[in-house]
Amino acid sequence: MTKIVNHWIGGKTVEGASGTHGPVTDPATGEVTTKVAFASVDEVDAAVAAAKEAFATWGQSSLAQRTSILFRFRALLDAHRDEIAELITAEHGKVHSDALGEVARGLEIVDLACGISVQLKGELSTQVASRVDVSSIRQPLGVVAGITPFNFPAMVPMWMFPLAIACGNTFVLKPSEKDPSASVKLAELLAEAGLPDGVFNVVHGDKVAVDRLLEHPDVKAVSFVGSTPIARYIHTTASANGKRVQALGGAKNHMLVLPDADLDAAADAAVSAAYGSAGERCMAISAVVAVGAIGDELVEKIRERAEKIKIGPGSDPASEMGPLITKVHRDKVATYVEGAAAEGAEVVLDGSAYTYEGAGFENGHWIGISLLDKVPTSAKAYQDEIFGPVLCVLRTETYEEALDIVNASPFGNGTAIFTRDGGAARRFQLEVEAGMVGVNVPIPVPVGYHSFGGWKDSLFGDHHIYGNDGTHFYTRGKVVTTRWPDPADAPAGVDLGFPRNH
Ligand code: NAD
Repeated sequence: MTKIVNHWIGGKTVEGASGTHGPVTDPATGEVTTKVAFASVDEVDAAVAAAKEAFATWGQSSLAQRTSILFRFRALLDAHRDEIAELITAEHGKVHSDALGEVARGLEIVDLACGISVQLKGELSTQVASRVDVSSIRQPLGVVAGITPFNFPAMVPMWMFPLAIACGNTFVLKPSEKDPSASVKLAELLAEAGLPDGVFNVVHGDKVAVDRLLEHPDVKAVSFVGSTPIARYIHTTASANGKRVQALGGAKNHMLVLPDADLDAAADAAVSAAYGSAGERCMAISAVVAVGAIGDELVEKIRERAEKIKIGPGSDPASEMGPLITKVHRDKVATYVEGAAAEGAEVVLDGSAYTYEGAGFENGHWIGISLLDKVPTSAKAYQDEIFGPVLCVLRTETYEEALDIVNASPFGNGTAIFTRDGGAARRFQLEVEAGMVGVNVPIPVPVGYHSFGGWKDSLFGDHHIYGNDGTHFYTRGKVVTTRWPDPADAPAGVDLGFPRNH
């Protein structure tokens, strides 16, 4: 029987009333296993109304009440790691260990939210003028929305809602329609942890649901993570509707390898970062820039390692890389490899025709490993975010040429440099145009207490996600100026001049 995933509104499961559903496919088998309800405008309105009603009390709740619920949620999340990872693998296709990794990184943000009291401490200046004190406080916004991509169905929502609700907001999540089950599990765990009804809601769906959130007058802020064209649209539309917006987009992450680098370490890192999660990560390394004479040796080391990657169902502990999310996406990724030679690249490994041999898995969205060398910057395989297991290697003579390539990219999410030269690494950190930089670290996803975000077409809006930026995004400032006159003071009298401090 086909499983049905419903909305979560006001603390309970709500069946989709619109009658519209979308298919959820197991990428390893190609079978539709689940139907997910698609919300109508009325259903989104019901979720926002539940969140608005809950805000009346949640926004006034004490920090101790909020954090004690988050501590309980953290314990439940920890206890249900495997179950959540299994839901992710069944709908996304990534291998179980990788799915566990995303739950662990989401849990880091819950850790941060458990300590929200420290971040919300505020500031006080005493005696700024005679018997006058000034305090700065931050208050929640109200109902906030999150719209999330398919590639991290548990982690990316957890980049958003733990901090949002810790700050006193209530939340409406619109997760990816391609792998919706993990978000419902998170909602159930939040309820079990004691979160009051309506503080966290999930509406599933497509553009209809998203557009309603973007225009709804009671939604005060929108956090988005997804592809660049949709991020740009979300930023423009929600901003035009007067909302605070952070919209994180796509990426093309470069890894520079300087001639003095440890080439074995660099090759290990490039292979892990390019092919992990089948390249469906916004922090995947998709372009290696080999500087100087090391190019041939580096490509050979990458090839040797890449060839050994075990591709198979995410549920098989022997698999290192699973299938792609949809058949359409699989076929699109293949076209980049098929067209690469005509665009001037050398095809070192061609995984475009790969298929996994195994009964029951014939219709999975399989693709193999591809490695393209000497890729010109004009090639589509270089210019586009492929979001698949295709690594482009570019060659340059100098560091400066390599830096120019990275900085000419419209994307600026993550980047890395591999070198033993501290001076060169330091120069790169300062000169590169990207939001997250790794020095001998290929996937520099920041820890929860720093913040995550790119530059250029990888982020629209002023705030990175989580860290101090997250707290700032989900609160607004208020400054209170107070005077308690001494009874012995002479009356101030009327003074129409602009207030001065003395
Ligand atoms: P996507 O942009 O297709 O979808 C993201 C969300 O937007 C989903 O919830 C989807 O339902 C919704 N959506 C899709 N089309 C829409 C439309 N026309 N109008 C309104 N809403 C729409 O992204 P995806 O394919 O789910 O995820 C992969 C992309 O996300 C990649 O580009 C990847 O780089 C990016 N990503 C970025 C980050 C980051 O931190 N910068 C993190 C993860 C993923």
